[in-house]
Amino acid sequence: MGISLLQTVKVGSYVVKQHLKGNKRYPLVLMLEPLFRCNLACAGCGKIDYPDPILNQRLSIEECLGAADECGAPVVSIAGGEPLLHREMPQIVEGLIARKKFIYLCTNALLLEKKLDQYKPNPYLTFSVHLDGSEEEHDHAVSQTGVYVKAVAAIKAAKAKGFRVTINTTLFDGAEPEKVAAFFDDVQAMGIDGIMVSPGYAYERAPDKEHFLNRTKTKQLFRDILKRGEGGKKWGFNLSPLFLDFLAGNQTYHCTPWGNPARTVFGWQRPCYLLGEGYAKTYKELMETTDWDSYGTGNYEKCADCMVHSGYEATSVTDTIKHPWKAAIVALKGVKTDGPMAPDISLANQRPAEYVFSRHVEQKMAELAHKPQTFETATDAAE
Ligand code: SF4
Repeated sequence: MGISLLQTVKVGSYVVKQHLKGNKRYPLVLMLEPLFRCNLACAGCGKIDYPDPILNQRLSIEECLGAADECGAPVVSIAGGEPLLHREMPQIVEGLIARKKFIYLCTNALLLEKKLDQYKPNPYLTFSVHLDGSEEEHDHAVSQTGVYVKAVAAIKAAKAKGFRVTINTTLFDGAEPEKVAAFFDDVQAMGIDGIMVSPGYAYERAPDKEHFLNRTKTKQLFRDILKRGEGGKKWGFNLSPLFLDFLAGNQTYHCTPWGNPARTVFGWQRPCYLLGEGYAKTYKELMETTDWDSYGTGNYEKCADCMVHSGYEATSVTDTIKHPWKAAIVALKGVKTDGPMAPDISLANQRPAEYVFSRHVEQKMAELAHKPQTFETATDAAE
């Protein structure tokens, strides 16, 4: 359960090699967003409110595989939008498998059962199904009834055909630890291969921003959940033990946004998957021209409450390589769920938020107005 042995060994040796080479900043997970179009409209999502000409854009097979080659991360998380709406997704997945990338194809699963035959089970491919809780909670989170039932049917169908399947859960303010623990028990009984869980990040464009967690609430929530599952040992998490330890308030970590670089239809996004504060044309340009020190909790107001894996999982993995004994103790004994918490980063010197969203949307719209369109239109969006 959780991260496969193959992935643990290959990603572990990649990280060790980066340290031996003295690389200070290296990518761990490429966040690939080949489209923003989705077949749901969840209240907590900040990705789907673009104008139609932008929602109709797709990264081509060449652009997707080129992004993987450019950055060289051993893991590729394909998100969106809904990746299964992309007609060339099977070829993109095939190309990434040929490059021996560990792929997490993130999906709401509405199309999964119908499209399963386009894929073959492979140790490098995992379907990461979005499920935010029980039937009632998930359907509420995605603002549509019947989605949970379809997703569970798709999970069972995918497992029956021999695919790796994990679930991807986002927790918001008001999540009840008892219910979350019961939900983890339920999904584990479905035979899934791991649970990915993260606190919601308050996207500046999410329609419902009131229900995102702040750091203090996040840590207490994770303690209250994990204490119901032997410090997390009861469940197979698709996360490093030290990232769970961080979520429960036992580690003081600084963000490493370059660990999960994001490639979208706008280009390489600065500084991370969650914040779009500008775009670079190439991965090299992203790495060399981003002022990394101006982002992260304590540096920037928009980062104040963030504890999301795309910023802190890479920090946890680096800490694991530097202090393997510390990670081993957490893995063996479980996450500490009581006692004092590790000190948090001071927000006293953070710079104020800048609002840049409309600028890059305007630029993209102007660019699209002057070039022939290669997008797929609403036909696939209506599937
Ligand atoms: S803390 Fe890091 S991952 Fe979170 S929003 Fe800021 S830069 Fe992105």
